[in-house]
Amino acid sequence: MAQPTTLNYYKILGITQKTSKADIKKRYRELAKKYHPDTNAGSKKAEDKFKLISEAYETLSNAKKRKEYDRQRAYQKKTPRRPKGQPNWNAPPGGFGGEPGGSKQGFEEPFAQEPEPIDPDMPTSGFDLQFMVDVPLPVAALGGTIHYSYEKYMQCEECEGTGTQGSDECAECQGKQLVVRSVTLDVKIPPGVADQYTLAIIKEGGAGRNGGPPGDLFLKVCIQPHPKFKRIKNDIIHEVTIPSKLAEEGGSLEVETLNATTTIQVEEETLIGEELRVPGEGAAINWGKKRGDLIIKFNIEEN
Ligand SMILES: [Zn+2]
Repeated sequence: MAQPTTLNYYKILGITQKTSKADIKKRYRELAKKYHPDTNAGSKKAEDKFKLISEAYETLSNAKKRKEYDRQRAYQKKTPRRPKGQPNWNAPPGGFGGEPGGSKQGFEEPFAQEPEPIDPDMPTSGFDLQFMVDVPLPVAALGGTIHYSYEKYMQCEECEGTGTQGSDECAECQGKQLVVRSVTLDVKIPPGVADQYTLAIIKEGGAGRNGGPPGDLFLKVCIQPHPKFKRIKNDIIHEVTIPSKLAEEGGSLEVETLNATTTIQVEEETLIGEELRVPGEGAAINWGKKRGDLIIKFNIEEN
């Protein structure tokens, strides 16, 4: 018989033990599509992920296999989930739920799904957390910093994580050693980051117990729509309405860029829908080494 796995199949699929069979299937399809070797030519990482996803689905979609797996997992709770030095293989495979900026689903989930460890004195690592983060388009395009607030388990201040006060159970944490607190982080947004990209922020997840290491924080970037700019890959499209006289006769015009303004020359007899490319004023490419273009698209005022 195969060696019992230490992998968390629920986490790999980004689901909980309560997720319905239909939803597990749906989730699997989404992930399999995303990491399929055919759509990720040559990526070893994607290939490995695809294998893990398939392995997880094979077990969790089969009632008998799942029961056996759950039983083994309950046993493994005796040992720390992620000993130091073991690679953190389980970065979220896009395991995010809810609407952008919406529910704290990623937060609720890990609390519900983990049973209490069998030995309460054993060091256990903290939970990994997964949230969505709303990022304004100019920040995503050029990089910047976002103040991000979220809630996580932290060591109880009252009992310094012992769970006791004198001979009594700590009243603040009810002996759990951990309490839920809100924290704010300055999150660096890399220039040119793509929508849905996942930022991994090491050790900013939930606190561990009995000296176990903290979990990690994973933030999925949700680029906010902008009233003026649209991003298409690395180019920024800006629709500008100009007077009909300027369109007919041509002339200079000041237009907004992502972070400043620039003056462009409108050609004579410019027509509605014509475009003018301003090189190097688009979104960052290769994390800031280059920039795409700003494309001005003309609209003409009616007389
Ligand atoms: Zn306490």
